[in-house]
Parts: sequence; structure tokens; C-alpha cells
Amino acid sequence: MCDNQGMKIGVVGAGILGLAVARELTSRGAEVTVLEKEDRVAAHQTGHNSGVVHAGIYYRPGSLKARLCREGMALLREYCQEHRLPYDEVGKLVVASTKAERAGLRTLADRARANGVPGVTELDALGLRDVEPHAVGVGAVHSPHTAVADFPAVARHLAANLDVRLSHPVPAIHESATSVAAGDLRFDRLVVCAGLGTDALAGEGDVRIVPFRGEYFRLVPQAKGLVRGLIYPVPDPRLPFLGVHLTRRIDGEVLVGPNAVMALALEGYSWRDVRPGELARILAWPGTRKMARRHWLTGLRELNGSLRPSVFLRAARRYVPALAEGDLVRAASGVRAQAVGRDGALLDDFAIDRHGRVLIVRNAPSPAATSSFAIARHVADLTVALSDPS
Ligand SMILES: Cc1cc2nc3c(=O)[nH]c(=O)nc-3n(C[C@H](O)[C@H](O)[C@H](O)COP(=O)(O)OP(=O)(O)OC[C@H]3O[C@@H](n4cnc5c(N)ncnc54)[C@H](O)[C@@H]3O)c2cc1C
Repeated sequence: MCDNQGMKIGVVGAGILGLAVARELTSRGAEVTVLEKEDRVAAHQTGHNSGVVHAGIYYRPGSLKARLCREGMALLREYCQEHRLPYDEVGKLVVASTKAERAGLRTLADRARANGVPGVTELDALGLRDVEPHAVGVGAVHSPHTAVADFPAVARHLAANLDVRLSHPVPAIHESATSVAAGDLRFDRLVVCAGLGTDALAGEGDVRIVPFRGEYFRLVPQAKGLVRGLIYPVPDPRLPFLGVHLTRRIDGEVLVGPNAVMALALEGYSWRDVRPGELARILAWPGTRKMARRHWLTGLRELNGSLRPSVFLRAARRYVPALAEGDLVRAASGVRAQAVGRDGALLDDFAIDRHGRVLIVRNAPSPAATSSFAIARHVADLTVALSDPS
């Protein structure tokens, strides 16, 4: 396919998404330059997440997430196999710990079927122990093809074959009749995959990025044997976050987390990271206040968990009771770029805006790392439609 033949296209952001988009556009004949403000790729969300390759069981059938997660998983697996990058189908159990949560399991199993996720089964209390001998619950959904991968390694591998300019922040975008300027460089088209930095480049819109920190603990070596793969709770359907889970990562570490607390800076990796200007802008957004009114109880619970590690242990022990005090130690956190609407709703689906010569990825939370190669195809198709900006 030669849709973008000869076109000069800039991509802002060298996370997995910007890099996958750059690769896709390059393969279609464009001359692509990636601009990244940090001195390395994968410095933010791509390098600070659970590393789970989602199979697509959670997402509303018909949504972009449902389609692009399924397609993206297959493309990512293929890329990892072809380039000998780590990829391991450790499998996932979503565990109901009360009878009331069983209805949530049924919804997940129905969604998995509607989304064409292969191999998903429903298990009873005994069956789930065959998969995870130390887990307890009244039932579970098992997704055997859910995997773990090394997203930063994928990003580095992508970057090695692209023109990536590191330490190259884009302060602003200016469009003219014939081109678009990203800082000091001019392009025919520009794609913004800036994650937490989106609003600074996207300008006014109906959504804003609110940073939600996800804090993690990891299991000490003696406790790691208690978890074989991935153990997740039944998610709260009102929220886009999946709840504190246990994740056996590709490097063998077992993570517990993440929670979801509003960060006090866009790149607020701890409570000490406070940026008054950014915080004031986040709080001034009407959507933030409406969201806080709607979800204040959940917010307080998450805040409690952030300040008291014992809450994490309790959450993990709900699924793996053999875990004991001292088995969890703090690990690095990540910050999600979550778009929030003016009405306070947390945008659930992936969202991409078009303005003239510019395409902006507005909302790409989990499972966007899993879906990155499929989002890249979708974005490249949309970039063709920008060919004649009116
Ligand atoms: C805690 C947590 C857990 C998650 N778990 C999973 C998971 O298990 N599976 C999954 O599929 N997804 C997961 N995700 C989501 C996934 O990490 C993201 O969806 C994905 O990494 C988004 O990639 P990105 O390239 O859009 O963003 P990023 O990786 O954040 O990249 C954006 C890049 O843009 C750069 N940038 C910003 N502004 C500018 C500017 N003005 N000029 C130049 N460069 C700029 C930034 O420095 C950054 O490198 C998780 C996310 C978090 C935070």
C-alpha cells in the first residue's frame, strides 16, 4: 500500500503508539520523523505499566477497543515472534470472590464470545485452582491466551529502524495553508501521540487529560511462587480501570496493583511530584469537578490504599490468601493519560481527532499498548483522509 507515498509526516511522541504509527506510515511510503521530548523512548506510559497483552474480554462489542485490541494482540504477537522479543501466554483468571460478583463474570464471558476471544472458559471454585493453585474465589473466567510482553523492548526495537529525534520537545503546533510546523520542523501532516502531553498540543476541546497514577507493589522472591500468571478482580463497569491485580511479568517479577489516584502533576509519579500550574488547569476543567462529585467514594478508597500499604495486601489476599505481611514491597508507579469529558465522564473508548493537517490521539489508555499496531493501521488510514484538508 502506498497511500502516503513521498509525504513528509511528523509524529510527536516516542511511546509505543507513536513508534508503531511511524512504522506503519513508513511502510506506506511516507518520510517519517518522530519527535520525543525525553532522552529515551518509552519514558512514560509505555515504560510504566503492567505489561499485559490483553485478549479483548472486557471491551464493549463494536467499540474501537474491542476491535483494535483483538487485531493488535495478533499483530504484536507476530512482531515479537518475528524479532525474537519476549512474549509469554501466561493466561489470565478473572476471579469472583462473592456470589454477587458472578453476574460480572457472566457479562465478561458474553463479551469475550461477542468479541471473538478464543479459548475463554468459565470455571467454578475448584476449576480455578487447577489454573492458579493458590487462588480462591467462587468462580472465574479463564482467558488462556492473555499474555505478557516487554513493551519498552518493543518500543526500542521499533525505534531502531526509524528516524527518532530524542530530547526534541515540540512546544506548539502551527498550521498554514501548505504545511504544519511542529516546533522548528515542517511537515505535510502531523500525528500527535503525546499521551500525558496531549492537551498542551491539542488546544481547546471537549475532553482533557486527567493524570491517574497507578501505584504498584511487587512480591518478595519467597512469595512469587504463589502466582503462576495473571489474577484479576471482576472490574467495576462504571470505571475504565481494572482494579488491583496480580501480574507475573515477563521478567518474572510479580506485581500487585495498580490502584488509581489522581496525580498532582501530569507526570506525577509520586505524591511529592506537584506542579501547581498543571494541577490548577486540571482542577479548572469542569469535567474534573463533576467526575470528583460522581466518584468521590471510590476516590477516597483509592486514596486510602495509596497511603496505607496494608490496603494493597488486603486486596491481594482476597484472591491469594497465603500472602502475608512483608510479602509486598513498593515498586515504581505509572501515570495513565485518561481523557475526561466536560460532563465528568471518563472516556472509555480510544478517541482520535482530526484538525486540518493534524491527527491527534486524544484517548489511548489501556489496552493501547496491546493494540498499538492495530491503532497504527487505523491512524494511518485516517491520515490518508487528511490528504486534502479543507
Ligand atoms: C499503570 C498503567 C498500567 C497499564 N497497563 C497496561 C497493560 O497492562 N496493557 C496495555 O495494553 N496497556 C496498559 N497501559 C496503557 C499503556 O501503557 C498506554 O496505553 C500506552 O503506553 C500508550 O502509549 P503512548 O505511546 O500513547 O503513550 P506514552 O508511552 O506515554 O508516550 C507518549 C510520549 O510522548 C512524549 N511527549 C509528550 N509531549 C511531548 C511533546 N510536546 N514533544 C515531544 N514529545 C512529547 C512523552 O515524553 C512520551 O514519551 C497501562 C498504563 C498505565 C499508566
